[in-house]
Amino acid sequence: MNIMVTNDDGIHAAGIRALAEAMTALGTVTVVAPDRERSAAGHSLTLHSPLRIFEQHKGWYAVDGTPTDCVNMGIHNMLPITPDLVVSGINHGANLGDDITYSGTVAAAMEANLMGIPAIAFSLATFAPSNHFTDAALMAVQIARQVIANGLPADTFLNVNFPDCPQDKMLPPLITRQGKRSFIGKIVDKTDPRGRKYFWVGSEEPHLNDEPGTDFHAINRRHVSITPLHLDLTNHKSLPILAEWTF
Ligand code: MN
Repeated sequence: MNIMVTNDDGIHAAGIRALAEAMTALGTVTVVAPDRERSAAGHSLTLHSPLRIFEQHKGWYAVDGTPTDCVNMGIHNMLPITPDLVVSGINHGANLGDDITYSGTVAAAMEANLMGIPAIAFSLATFAPSNHFTDAALMAVQIARQVIANGLPADTFLNVNFPDCPQDKMLPPLITRQGKRSFIGKIVDKTDPRGRKYFWVGSEEPHLNDEPGTDFHAINRRHVSITPLHLDLTNHKSLPILAEWTF
């Protein structure tokens, strides 16, 4: 097995070290990750500046771009063969509900999925300091084993969230759907030392609706959450409604 590992917290993050190390149980691991934190980069590509690769040590490459750049660079320029699996994470912070649309972690898996490569995004559901990345990484290997053994349905990649606890305290994975955020927009508004106003997008814990069957509901109850995602953003239920419009 050839496994490519990336993330959006940057190549020096604890989560990618734990994930890359754990994945060596399944095969050869190559890390291609941003050279610094690129959280909330979404699915952005760098189009207006060049990209450079910095080899950190054997099999570990930092790129001065986004997570999506890393997947592109890794697959098209750096890995000798197409990887069998791309894993992204383990993100420091949940990627649940509507928040996944901002996520560089999820976008990296999305990019691999666009290239037809099985892909999984992993996140640890806490923004507080945590020493459970290794616990989560061991669970990540179990999930990756299932993906390798069974394959994924067409056009599907996985968004996995782990509760922030030791592995023996995590409850078994539940297959979930993407939940809904109750949006509490928070922009901090302050004045800098020179008297100018500045604004900072808030980073409070997401407020998500605790509905059964959702990613958030599972994580709230200490289950591992596995949500199958796809890239068809069409709202199929609205097609017949809009078809009634006349122009
Ligand atoms: Mn991140």
